[in-house]
Amino acid sequence: MPIDATQPYDDQNIFAKILRGDIPNSTVYEDAFALAFHDINPQAPHHILVIPKGAYVSWDDFSARADDAEIAGFVRAVGNVAREAGMVAPGYRLLANIGQDGHQEVPHLHVHIFAGRPLGPMLA
Ligand code: IMP
Repeated sequence: MPIDATQPYDDQNIFAKILRGDIPNSTVYEDAFALAFHDINPQAPHHILVIPKGAYVSWDDFSARADDAEIAGFVRAVGNVAREAGMVAPGYRLLANIGQDGHQEVPHLHVHIFAGRPLGPMLA
């Protein structure tokens, strides 16, 4: 079920548990600002989720409340993940779902990275 992007942060959400190490994940990248791991239900040959280490519900919450260092660090981390995975030359897609109409299901900001095949035109 999609979440309400205006809801308060729920520290029991699945990605909060992954960040705390309460449940396992397949980490592909980690730095001071971000953690990246494989999506449990991949929609492309490579499907990675990148999440900020801070407690932010959505892109909206993050862009409104995070400080400039967190924002810069997270944006740089997303680029690092794709670069280190060799995705730049073949290309890749970034996606962030926000709230109900965006069909965001996990209430901790995450950016999807899709790669590994021609992804075709973006479908709304
Ligand atoms: P959303 O619709 O943008 O919120 O996407 C949530 C994503 O999280 C989906 O692609 C799920 O497959 C993925 N997901 C949910 N639980 C886990 C998990 O425990 N590990 C990795 N990915 C997960």
